[in-house]
This record gives sequence, structure tokens and C-alpha cells, in this order.
Amino acid sequence: MLWDQKGVPQKGWTCEGVTDLGFPDGQCEMCGRAEIRYVHHMAHEEYQDGLDVGCVCAEKMEDDYVNPRRREQDLRNVAGRRKRWLTRKWKVSQSGNPYLKTDGFHIVIYPLSDGSWGGKITELGTGAAVTNRKRYLDANKAKLGAFDGVIFLKGKRKGPSGGSNGAQG
Ligand SMILES: [Zn+2]
Repeated sequence: MLWDQKGVPQKGWTCEGVTDLGFPDGQCEMCGRAEIRYVHHMAHEEYQDGLDVGCVCAEKMEDDYVNPRRREQDLRNVAGRRKRWLTRKWKVSQSGNPYLKTDGFHIVIYPLSDGSWGGKITELGTGAAVTNRKRYLDANKAKLGAFDGVIFLKGKRKGPSGGSNGAQG
């Protein structure tokens, strides 16, 4: 329990990111609460080491009772989508590779000469393509790898301003 420890600031922390552990097996470094699934990585200029904490403590440390919960909800939504990703209707391209169009991206995965799988994501609006350099053991793992890529690219596209253009198509 660090909350009443001398030298540990109680306010003025900023969050540098949240990690979804996948299971509630983390522990909050600030209050010691166990069974944390979403770990908020907190930093403070007057405290040398960062602290990994749960949502409740992150709210207090940032003095912000909206955004820490929102960050967790975003991750929860992504986790839910990732779960459903493999059951979506993947089509088969002329060369026999599974592909999917979603979120403004064309996603294709394909077997490589060594038996592993790779993937490529193309942004439909600009035609900009990103080839995944990772190699996956099977098609499903390649699809999940592509999902992570789409989430990453969407985050980048949104940018720090966070503006959503609401365009449909
Ligand atoms: Zn805590």
C-alpha cells in the first residue's frame, strides 16, 4: 500500500497507457488490490519509477473520473471485437487467400513458402499498404495478427487530436 507512504505523490500523475492482461491476475501497486485485468501505467515527474495500478487508483492519481474508465472501455471493446474477429465472414480472393473489408481497410492473409502465414492491410481510401513482417503458425493466428494491425492503424489514423470524421462507406 503506497497511498499513505511518504514520497509517493497522491495527485498529478499522468497515464502513459493501459494494458489488457487478458485475465484478472494483475495487482495494483498503489493500493495492493489484486485481480486487476486492466493495468494503467502511471508516471509522475517527482517519482522516479512508474506505477502500474488499477482503474480506481488511476482515477484518484490523475484526479480524473472520466478518462481512466473510458480507456478501459476502449480496450474492452477491442477485446470483444477480437473475440468475434475469426467468426466474421472472410471471403476468398481469386488467388485463394482469405480477405476481409472492414473499417476502411482491405485485409488479406496468405500462406508463405515455409508453411507459415503472413498478412497485408491496405487502407481503402489512400491505397497505402502495410505488410505484416511477422510469421504466423496458422491462418487464424494471421487473422488475429491482422486485427491487431488494424487497431494499431486506426489509432494512428485518429491521431492525437482524436477527431472522428464520421464518414460512412
Ligand atoms: Zn489501486
